[in-house]
Amino acid sequence: MSLPRGVYRLKKVFVIGGGAAGMMGAISAASHGCAVTLFERNDILGKKVLLTGKGKCNVTNACSKEDFFVRFAKNGHFLRDALKAFSSEDVISFFENQGIECQIGRQQRVFPLKHEAPDVVEALKQVLRKNNVCIKYNSRIKDLIVKDGQAIGIKFENGEDQFCDKVILATGGASFSGTGSSGDGIEMAQKLNHKKVNLRPSLVPLITKEKFPAKLRGFFLKNVRLTFKHGKKKKITGIGEVMLMSNGISGALSLAVSGEVVDWLAKGEKVFAKIDLKPGMTAEEVGARLGRELKANPKKVIADIMTSFFPEIFMGTFMKLVDLDSARLAGTMKLKEINRIQESLKALTLEITGSRPLNSGMVTQGGVSLKNINPKTMESRVIKNLYFTGEMMDIDADTGGFNLQAAFSTGYLAGLSASQ
Ligand SMILES: Cc1cc2nc3c(=O)[nH]c(=O)nc-3n(C[C@H](O)[C@H](O)[C@H](O)COP(=O)(O)OP(=O)(O)OC[C@H]3O[C@@H](n4cnc5c(N)ncnc54)[C@H](O)[C@@H]3O)c2cc1C
Repeated sequence: MSLPRGVYRLKKVFVIGGGAAGMMGAISAASHGCAVTLFERNDILGKKVLLTGKGKCNVTNACSKEDFFVRFAKNGHFLRDALKAFSSEDVISFFENQGIECQIGRQQRVFPLKHEAPDVVEALKQVLRKNNVCIKYNSRIKDLIVKDGQAIGIKFENGEDQFCDKVILATGGASFSGTGSSGDGIEMAQKLNHKKVNLRPSLVPLITKEKFPAKLRGFFLKNVRLTFKHGKKKKITGIGEVMLMSNGISGALSLAVSGEVVDWLAKGEKVFAKIDLKPGMTAEEVGARLGRELKANPKKVIADIMTSFFPEIFMGTFMKLVDLDSARLAGTMKLKEINRIQESLKALTLEITGSRPLNSGMVTQGGVSLKNINPKTMESRVIKNLYFTGEMMDIDADTGGFNLQAAFSTGYLAGLSASQ
């Protein structure tokens, strides 16, 4: 039945997944005039968002656009249009308009000043309500309904079908699956002939062959530089901290490179992490200082001298690694033993044998291939009226607010495109 002249039916948009991308996608489509229903499998929205930034929610990053792209493992430039449509400034204004003042902190990370992750989710819910988005909780979508190459509806777990004009998929990656993101949307897309790029963990703790980190688990080696070596190649991180864990290492420096390490290991390469405990000094300077201190204090035990190089708690482990008794007197040290200490201070070497599994990655690498998605609209190049957003796409970034920004930007652009 056709509508009377001058009366237009609102475009009916279904958004699947109520995380960062889905909530923003629903807000965007609704604020651009669509009738939107948001389907979330959990009984709350934004379960993963609640975990972000250790509960403080690092909503975005205020670095320049060019630096922004660099922080994506690869494929960052795919986000060019999405970031133009909804930038980090837009994210900040969005939350400030909801009374969540933001502040730019260390490394340009943007956090709510006085609020936390639950307030961020509440703010998104308020805007969803203001825009009359209908939210359906406990609704796990199983499949999409496609006719003549166009998405026309969705299938629920119980077999029920519902129909719409456009579908926005926002089901997230496949890590931290307890939050609801278990890769459903990626599977749905794959069934509809979208290419799936192999799923791997990123921002994930790495496992070492050496067992000593277990003894000091939870301890941070601070102000160190980490270098990963694989084959003849090197990847040097900035200066920061390495966290020792029950079976390996984590912390910002290691997390940032972990996705690449996972890929090197998958290719069968041997990977070593070298920790420079004294990045502010050259090897020669470290050697000279060590030599001076040993010479000036021949009656002191070596352990007392080494406390000026690293925290005492690390002493037993370090001395074991260099195969020396910490009770030895400085005056009895031989040159080759001093060299061993100097080398280990500049390059304490660990062999990386693996990573924790996909579910332990803060983000998922891989997902729906970007070749199948139009970056100007987020629409599928395979199925019309189907849009992709957020972490379910083959896009992932370093820590610092980049992943949430990608989710917000792509969600916004998908919602806008679906409305047109
Ligand atoms: C511990 C942790 C800390 C993090 N901290 C930060 C941070 O501070 N800053 C940052 O930028 N990034 C951070 N991230 C990454 C960031 O949270 C994600 O990249 C981002 O949430 C991805 O958004 P999304 O909407 O694509 O997916 P999600 O937020 O994962 O949302 C997907 C939603 O879809 C729902 N869903 C899945 N399948 C179905 C289905 N079949 N039917 C209906 N609903 C479904 C899920 O239940 C979920 O609610 C962190 C991640 C983790 C795990």
